[in-house]
Amino acid sequence: MFVELRKLPGVDRLLQEPAVQNLIQIYGRELVVEGLRHALDTARDQIRRGASCPPAEEIMIQAEGYLRALARPTLRPVINASGVIIHTNLGRAPLSEETRMAMLDAARGYTNLEYDLEAGQRGSRYVHAEQLLCRLTGAEAALVVNNNAGAVLLILTALAQGREVIISRSQLIEIGGGFRIPDVMRQSGAHLVEVGTTNRTHLHDYEEAIGPETAALMRAHHSNFRIIGFTAEVPLEDLVALAGEHGLLVFDDLGSGTLLDTAAFGLAHEPTMQESVAVGADIVSCSGDKLLGGPQAGIILGRAKLIAHLRRHPLTRALRVDKTTLAGLQATLLHYLKGEAVDKIPVWQMIASRPDTLKQRAERWAQALSQTGVRAMVTEGRSTVGGGSLPGETLPTWLVALGVDSPDALAARLRAGEPPVIARIEDDRLCLDPRTVFEEEEETLLRAVQAAL
Ligand SMILES: *Cc1c(COP(=O)(O)O)cnc(C)c1O
Repeated sequence: MFVELRKLPGVDRLLQEPAVQNLIQIYGRELVVEGLRHALDTARDQIRRGASCPPAEEIMIQAEGYLRALARPTLRPVINASGVIIHTNLGRAPLSEETRMAMLDAARGYTNLEYDLEAGQRGSRYVHAEQLLCRLTGAEAALVVNNNAGAVLLILTALAQGREVIISRSQLIEIGGGFRIPDVMRQSGAHLVEVGTTNRTHLHDYEEAIGPETAALMRAHHSNFRIIGFTAEVPLEDLVALAGEHGLLVFDDLGSGTLLDTAAFGLAHEPTMQESVAVGADIVSCSGDKLLGGPQAGIILGRAKLIAHLRRHPLTRALRVDKTTLAGLQATLLHYLKGEAVDKIPVWQMIASRPDTLKQRAERWAQALSQTGVRAMVTEGRSTVGGGSLPGETLPTWLVALGVDSPDALAARLRAGEPPVIARIEDDRLCLDPRTVFEEEEETLLRAVQAAL
């Protein structure tokens, strides 16, 4: 054993090797020394357990593996073959090419983020997406913050702290990631007044709860669940009329926030931003990265006086968005202005994908995969929109279903691949849904599946 241990090369000798010199170019000398020490320690352990001294090449390969793992980012692109379009765990909306380019341009150099080019002095970052948002929704004013959770917190804090906000019991939602309306309300210092029952709430429930401390009536989108059966909720118009009689605000948390009518794509109608504004909600909030299909952001629309008040609130500074977000949001909104959202925004391209096109793609995949000897079948299935919008609604799709002994093991191997592939398991088969896979990802996907098989 001691003879074998003594055969191990020293770090200094290994550092002279051309292969190691190469590694130093990539990772820097300090990390390479760390990698070599790690590889040598491993070899020493193995020798003590009875192995013979490995060749120097093997130690260098070990070191390279260590360095590669160390330098690999934890946040990596994945292929989404799950058929869930707005998948929060997978980063929600993929962005349009124009949006990505705008974000890249803003990131590369300086911008007039807070600089008024005409006056040559300090300007406001909040002007950037505002005009587009107002034009597209009919709102008097708009404000963009970090995300919709932040928007809700800001609105409740700035407009209702220490006062009461009335909301239907059926809307006291919890969405993923620990966002619960009652908790956000408590955090804001507004007092929650819940009215109605789990399944039914009437206008008179709100009316009876209004008192001297009431600041606002709030409506929250159900987001990720649906109540069915004997149910009743009060339409936004009625809340607006009631609030008007009592001089109260109406705050509508739309959740997903869409500018396009989802009913045109065979889905239920998701309330749109422009509808909420038109009906007369004083303040409306939604996400930028759900059905809008843009970067993560919280969008606030509302009356000019209220938005001006929000803008001055200290919390706004803590929730502020960066230049890349604003650049990306502007580019995404521009697609709507030009009437090209369905052609350019990935979320809408996916929603609008036609079943016959999806079937052709699934057939192509199945054929390619069958050549590796696996049983690949094309079957009808359902895709979902996700992202807390359109709960229970699905779109017809065509899946490639792989008949393997252990779909769970295959799914795990797919997740461990490079790039990782996220599939779904249905009826004990591993299924791939072409709807959420970009055409330019297809070859990589098929190669990854073949490797995992
Ligand atoms: C998604 C959602 C939120 C939170 O939005 P984020 O952009 O994820 O912060 C708040 N309210 C509702 C109703 C939602 O659906």
